[in-house]
Amino acid sequence: MARVVRRLFALVLSASISLSPADETAPSAGTPTPGTPTVQDGYVQTIAPVTKGVWLIAQPQAFHIQPIGNVVVIEHADGLVLIDGGGSTGAGRRIVDLVRSVSDKPVKAIALTHWHGDHVLGVSAIVQAWPSAEVIATDVTDAHLRGRSMKAYPKGAPDATLQAAFDQRLDSVERSLRDALAKPGLAPREREGFAASQRLFVQYRQDTRDLVLALPTRTFVDSLRLDDATHPVELRHPGRGNTDGDLIAWLPRQRVMVAGDLLVAPVPFGFNAYPADWQRTLRAMQAQTPAWWIPGHGAAMRDDGYVTRVVDLIDATRDAVAAQVRQGASMDDAKKRIDLSAGRAQFAGDDPWLSRWFDRYWTQPFIEAAYREATGAPIEQGEG
Ligand SMILES: [Zn+2]
Repeated sequence: MARVVRRLFALVLSASISLSPADETAPSAGTPTPGTPTVQDGYVQTIAPVTKGVWLIAQPQAFHIQPIGNVVVIEHADGLVLIDGGGSTGAGRRIVDLVRSVSDKPVKAIALTHWHGDHVLGVSAIVQAWPSAEVIATDVTDAHLRGRSMKAYPKGAPDATLQAAFDQRLDSVERSLRDALAKPGLAPREREGFAASQRLFVQYRQDTRDLVLALPTRTFVDSLRLDDATHPVELRHPGRGNTDGDLIAWLPRQRVMVAGDLLVAPVPFGFNAYPADWQRTLRAMQAQTPAWWIPGHGAAMRDDGYVTRVVDLIDATRDAVAAQVRQGASMDDAKKRIDLSAGRAQFAGDDPWLSRWFDRYWTQPFIEAAYREATGAPIEQGEG
């Protein structure tokens, strides 16, 4: 079961985590998954202007255990540039409708911030609507999309065998959610969170019925400028951080910084990350003094207060790990001994649901990454 539970959330965020250590022995409640989602849960993305000629497609409620990455729409004279493409074919179809609700222009390019499924699996639906759209990524992200990291996904056209395997992974997610809900002692907020997650996976199963991964058609190594008279876009690989192939987008005229998952609110994600590089990259981005920060998940931000909190959190985590390494602690020892409750309170407040996921989506994976970094062990990208 441990293996299954780890695998299930490999699906969620290309990561290895579990709902909780005790889930392995929890009985299955056997209750049917209720309801359909999820407008009321803030899952279905909506579109809103950021500044003239720039829109953000985002989930009204920022945190979900299976999230959909933000999509930024930038208007050029000859078409629209999208940053990221949503997390499923269904989400991609809704993105097409949202884009059409604000502009008659065609999408001419979709730039991918990184390879994780919640940012790329909707691209196939978008290029179906605008077949001449370019799909742009860094060369490193392109390699992950074509290689081991995304080997579970059909490329170019649906594939019955891969689809069946994916659906089985969803079965195990749903079982784990039922098991989690059957446990005694959950706070009401956690119970509500798991119930909303059940509704989410009903929608996600519909949205992923015809999974296809659209591959990049254009790649770059360091930077690529998409020129325009009013809204030029500078795509950059700022170095490693959230992944080893991160792409950020900078609009020098509007001073909009599109950060991908280098910035995620309200709870950051720390899987297979590069802590020192991440910190350096965020500081370099702050030095550009953006007027707008657009995170990979969560609402657009006007100032960099949240960015500073993330930089400080990375700092605190790296320091704590370095101290453990100096004392000769193993990685498991370090995970047990390091107390990030002050950081957790800053990000999750007293919300037990967010606190739970702060521990699983940040503390555990990021301590692992920082431990690897401190001991010189390689940090490799996972599988989606
Ligand atoms: Zn993401």
